[in-house]
Parts: sequence; C-alpha cells; structure tokens
Amino acid sequence: MNHDVIVLGAGLAGLAAARDLAAGGADVLVVEARDRVGGRVEQTELPDGRLVQLGGEVVGRAHTAYLALAEELGLTLIPSYVAEPGAMVRATAEGVSAGEPPHWFAPGDDAGHRRVTAAFTALAQTVDPDDPWSHPDADALDRISVADWLRSEGASPSVARLWEIGQLALASGSYERTSLLSALRKHAAVPGSGHGDGDHYDYEDWEGLRVAEGSATVALRMAAGLGDRIRLGAPVESLAVRPGGCSVGLKGGEKLTARAVVSALPVGPLRSVAVSGVSGERLASLHRQRQACAAKFAAAYDKPFWRDLGLNGLSECEGVLGSTWPQNEGILSALVPPERYGVMLGMPAQRIEHELLGDIVRLYGEQAHQPAGTYLRMWGTDPWTQGYVTQWTPGDVMAVGPSHGRHEPPFYVCGSDQWVAGYMEGAVRTGRAAAKEALSRG
Ligand SMILES: Cc1cc2nc3c(=O)[nH]c(=O)nc-3n(C[C@H](O)[C@H](O)[C@H](O)COP(=O)(O)OP(=O)(O)OC[C@H]3O[C@@H](n4cnc5c(N)ncnc54)[C@H](O)[C@@H]3O)c2cc1C
Repeated sequence: MNHDVIVLGAGLAGLAAARDLAAGGADVLVVEARDRVGGRVEQTELPDGRLVQLGGEVVGRAHTAYLALAEELGLTLIPSYVAEPGAMVRATAEGVSAGEPPHWFAPGDDAGHRRVTAAFTALAQTVDPDDPWSHPDADALDRISVADWLRSEGASPSVARLWEIGQLALASGSYERTSLLSALRKHAAVPGSGHGDGDHYDYEDWEGLRVAEGSATVALRMAAGLGDRIRLGAPVESLAVRPGGCSVGLKGGEKLTARAVVSALPVGPLRSVAVSGVSGERLASLHRQRQACAAKFAAAYDKPFWRDLGLNGLSECEGVLGSTWPQNEGILSALVPPERYGVMLGMPAQRIEHELLGDIVRLYGEQAHQPAGTYLRMWGTDPWTQGYVTQWTPGDVMAVGPSHGRHEPPFYVCGSDQWVAGYMEGAVRTGRAAAKEALSRG
C-alpha cells in the first residue's frame, strides 16, 4: 500500500512528526521495531501506583517545543527534583560531603571555578547553536577537549574535577573526551533564562520540570491519537529513496512504499539500515554521529528517607554510579556514565544490584540497602537504542558538519540526535520541524 509518509521509529521524535503529519492531512504510517512505543522514554508501575521512569524523565523551562507539546496533549508540568529542599551530596574515593563547596576544594578554588565559568559562558555567546561551523575558530574549538581548555584557562585540578564529576553525573561522556565546540553549542542553545544559578549547566533550564502523569505518558498519549497508524514489531532493514516513491524494507522481506520517509531512528541502529538514494555526504554525516553509552538504575523506597538527613537526593559520585536524583516520591534515579559502563558489564550479574546500591548507601546511609524494588535499564547496549544522548568527542562537530539535522527531500531526518545535545526537547523539536518541512513541500 502506498502512503504519503512513512516514519521510521516510534520514539518521541517519530510520534511527534507523525502526529503533525496526520493533523496536516497526510496519510502516515509509523514503523517501530519494538513491541511498544516511546523508545528512550519508558515507564513501569509499582503495585502502589507510583510510576518509575526507566528512561528520559525531566525537562527544563527552556525546552519550549516539549513544553508546548505537553500542553497540547493536556498533560501537567510540575517542578522536578530541582525544587527539592535540602543539600546535594558529592562522593569521591576520599570523602563524602553535602552542600558547597565540595570537600576537595581548597581556598581559591571557588573563585577559580567562577572565573572559568564566566569565561565559558562568554565564549558560548560567540557560537551560533544552529551554525557552529561558521565560528571563525570552529576547527580549533572543536579539536580541543573541555578538560584541556579548562587547563589552558588555568583551572586548578580541583576545579577541573568539579566540572568532570558534574559532566559524568549527566552521563554524556567525560570532559576529557568532549569537544569544547560541542559544549559551547549546547550552552548557546539554552543560554540561561535567569531561572537558575548562572552555572555552565543551568539545572532549572535543563531539568526543572517533569510531567506529573509520567514522562512516558507523552509518548503513550501521542500513540493513542495515532491509533492503527503505528505498526509495532516491524524492524526496518532497508530504505530506498527515490523522488515520488520511497521503499521501506522490513525484517522478513515485506516492502512498504511512500512518497516521503522521515527517519526518527537513533544514529546507532540507523547504521544497520541499508540506505540508497541519499547523497553520500548526507549519509556519511549521519553515520559519523555517536551516542554516549549509559545505563539507568532506579531504586524504589517506601519513603524519601534522605530528607530526614537534610538531603535532596541529588548527588554526583565517582563510584560506578555518576549521579542520583529523586524522580518521584521515594524513588531514586541514578545514571551509570559511559566511562563506567564497561565496569558494570564486567561485574558478575548477581553482584550488580548490590554494588550499585552500595554507591547509594555511601551517599544516604544503610537504609538505601532496603529498596522495595530496583530496575536496571542498559540503554547503551540495547539494540534499538545503542546509546543514551549524543556524544561529541573532539573533532566530531566538524566531521558531522552542517548536514547535521538537515533534510534531503523526500528523505527527512529527526530525532534527539539531530539536535545539539539529545534530550526529549531535541526529539520533539526536530520531529515537529521535519513534519512542518515535509508538509510545506506537499
Ligand atoms: C536513561 C536515560 C535518561 C534520560 N534522561 C533524560 C531526561 O531526563 N531528560 C531529557 O530531556 N532526555 C533524557 N534522555 C534522552 C531522551 O530520552 C531521548 O533523547 C529521547 O527520548 C529520544 O527520542 P527519539 O525519538 O529521538 O529516539 P528514541 O526514543 O530512541 O526512538 C527511536 C525509536 O526507533 C526505534 N527503532 C530503532 N531501530 C529501528 C529499526 N531498525 N526499525 C524500526 N524502529 C527502530 C526504537 O525502538 C525507538 O522506539 C534520557 C535517555 C535515557 C536513555
């Protein structure tokens, strides 16, 4: 059967694109490899009714595309963990401390941290997030890592360590292997609305809100609207793009046809799809992109016991876990960053939960050893994701080039990987933009 548009992948990007295409009158079909929609947003329900988010969870006040979509879907945005009272904890091999400054800071480090933060934010103002390639020093800024730049700015090892522990808490790859240009671009895309504390990663702007009905409900609600226009259990293996007639090959040999195709696949799984009819430059750029491999661990407790200690549940750690934060009443989320993913893969399976809980015990005490339930989601090695959010190692921004996020009609691309830094905002923003572009071309 011939469709107007076939959308590959039923994550937030594919669903947002398909929803707008259908609203614009297009005959659209979404093909999805898994037997569920949502991709990197997924939730499960505890017997007491609390939802546990296993993937994307929080958004920021600056995430305008996501916030607008949530409102259209009739969902409620409420303050996230960022509004929790209490102190944040940092844990390293030599100590654990709550609040500021971190326990390894010496006199002068605080002022040094503020100085390099100001230099970073000033430099970010010179970068156009939509066109970082046009920066006069683009090549040099891309070749240097954030950590090397910090050292070149005279940051002390203690200050560089604070930036690194914060970056590993976000799990998008060590600053030793992150392109400065990519970090500046990310900051320039969300330069700070003044809600937060003006740091180089503004928690209010990036993580200050969450959907009360559950993050994955955004996907479920879009899917309900699309109904039988979504086909589950249909992995795409090939794609032939031709003006006036594209062909999508599914596992098992079935061929579907459409006038246009929107790829909303993560960059990892996309590499396994045999694509023809797309320019070498467009394809090489897509194939050059990479993802940070991370895992998410969630521990559900009867109550948020860390509050009794004056703590807010937010932490940055140098254990196997990189961070924790409270996602819902009594439920702690945690991330395993790429640098420690291999450590976790090397653990005897029966030890993993115990060792991850051990990191939480170090932060919040023995009660952490008694969760009502735990959940581990290994996104980095999930065949249909192969990652977590975008990762830009030195040289990647220039190598991916200005084709990043660009369409080659009738082949359109979207997905969080096609925005500056991944995230649910990137998925919704690029999904809706791809639909708009396809509709405008009839
Ligand atoms: C643990 C974790 C925590 C996160 N936390 C946050 C957060 O708090 N805030 C935030 O904003 N973002 C967060 N993110 C990122 C955010 O969830 C993602 O960027 C976003 O959901 C990705 O949406 P997408 O539609 O681009 O891709 P995906 O959700 O990955 O969707 C792609 C879809 O394509 C399907 N697919 C893959 N290959 C094929 C194939 N060959 N054929 C057919 N279908 C295929 C997949 O099954 C999937 O359904 C997190 C991600 C993870 C993993």
